[in-house]
Amino acid sequence: MERVVAKQYDLIIGGERVATSEHFEIRDPGTGDVVGLCPVATKEDLDRAVASAREAYRTWSRSGDQERKEAVDRIADSIHANMEELAQLLTLEQGKPLNGLGSRFELHGAEAWARHTGTLDLPVEVLHDDETGRVELHRKPLGVVGSITPWNFPILIAIWHVVPAIRAGNTVVIKPSPYTPLSTIRMVEILNDVLPEGILNVVAGRDDLGQMMTSHPDIQKIVFTGSCATGRKVMQSASETLKRVTLELGGNDAGIVLPDADPKAIAERLFWGAFINNGQTCAALKRLYVPGNIYDELCEALVDYAGTVRVGHGLDEGSILGPIQNRMQYDKVVDLVEDAKRSGARILCGGKASEGPGYFYPVTIVADATDGMRIVDEEQFGPVLPIIRYTDLEDAIEQANGLDVGLGGSAWSSDVDKAKAVAARLECGTAWVNNHGAIKPFAPFGGVKGSGLGVEFGDLGLKEYTSVQVVHQ
Ligand code: NAD
Repeated sequence: MERVVAKQYDLIIGGERVATSEHFEIRDPGTGDVVGLCPVATKEDLDRAVASAREAYRTWSRSGDQERKEAVDRIADSIHANMEELAQLLTLEQGKPLNGLGSRFELHGAEAWARHTGTLDLPVEVLHDDETGRVELHRKPLGVVGSITPWNFPILIAIWHVVPAIRAGNTVVIKPSPYTPLSTIRMVEILNDVLPEGILNVVAGRDDLGQMMTSHPDIQKIVFTGSCATGRKVMQSASETLKRVTLELGGNDAGIVLPDADPKAIAERLFWGAFINNGQTCAALKRLYVPGNIYDELCEALVDYAGTVRVGHGLDEGSILGPIQNRMQYDKVVDLVEDAKRSGARILCGGKASEGPGYFYPVTIVADATDGMRIVDEEQFGPVLPIIRYTDLEDAIEQANGLDVGLGGSAWSSDVDKAKAVAARLECGTAWVNNHGAIKPFAPFGGVKGSGLGVEFGDLGLKEYTSVQVVHQ
């Protein structure tokens, strides 16, 4: 029988493919089949990638606004032209379905974010101008930006990092997650066809490569998206060389439903706020606070909607949700649900691991959850939503704000003003009214408290890739 040899992926440094001597297998989380072989970059490979980005920076940092905007437009065009190939590869290695809010949706988002970033300006601000003199504020690029990405939205988050960095005149070395490196490598390869040599490089390997980046003397900024625990390590390591950091970390978003909300009207939006990308989303709804008068009705409406969602292999055009991405996350979800059962919570649907192959776990809605249960206090990052009953709205707000993270939060009511007043009291970077998780390329996004530092998107996000130079004349 003919043996199928998995495709070996290479690093992309200075526009060239660079082969490594070591590789590891990337497997389809829906079947366990090998999708491809991820290269393992050495410290020397990283040095070479950083040197390439540094060399390219000499020219790129002096490019004009128009040239940078055109490069960003070419990135958007290229994503558009290669959308289906990248979506298929993303589905194979990440598990998310092609359809629903899956790979094609992610690729469309990547194009939209790139396009918008191409329209942003970094104008010189005149701070003072009269007969005594003129003072201007200029925005200058930083140098080489190191981008470290997670496994939940590998393509979209890569674009969120890379495009504003390049738009502002920096050059980039990106390191994707060891769980989902292939789609990023392929995207960087494709983008190198339309970008000047060396401004976008990709290295891949294991977690220690990230650590090498955060301590690298020739990287000026780290943009990191990932867990809170790793984010703290990144900041610590980056402090040695005083790198700038943007940290987009984990969350445990709360939603508060007010007593006047209509359960049937909000169930679908609540569901997708929680289960987008199988719950493997930083700003997904992870704890839902519901008052006693509509508790049972809302639980029922959510379970009814869950029954309409088809879970299956991502390449199946009919699937709306796929498997959990990896074993570590799957085990965590199983552990949290089992702990909730032991603690007295009620499983309304799901809650039972399916027989393999693949890390499939059903949509799981957990009633009678309370603060103090692990399933409420810890970020589940999987297809699980605990629902907590409350009697006093003030208590619910206090509980929602009771954790040390603050990425997103939401309030739900038939009266928008009432919901808005509650949303405004949530300690989080983004607060939604009758919605959870909507993001826009022009609206700054970031966490407060332990959920991170800095913002991405829009003018404020772009400015994070610059330093200020004030010119007095
Ligand atoms: P993770 O922290 O395990 O890994 C993220 C990246 O960091 C990977 O590329 C990994 O290889 C690298 N890394 C690991 N150790 C490192 C070290 N010591 N130094 C430098 N880099 C290192 O996170 P994950 O499991 O891939 O992603 C899930 C987490 O990401 C969740 O907590 C989620 O909420 C969060 N997230 C946040 C956002 C946001 O915008 N705030 C978006 C997506 C995901």
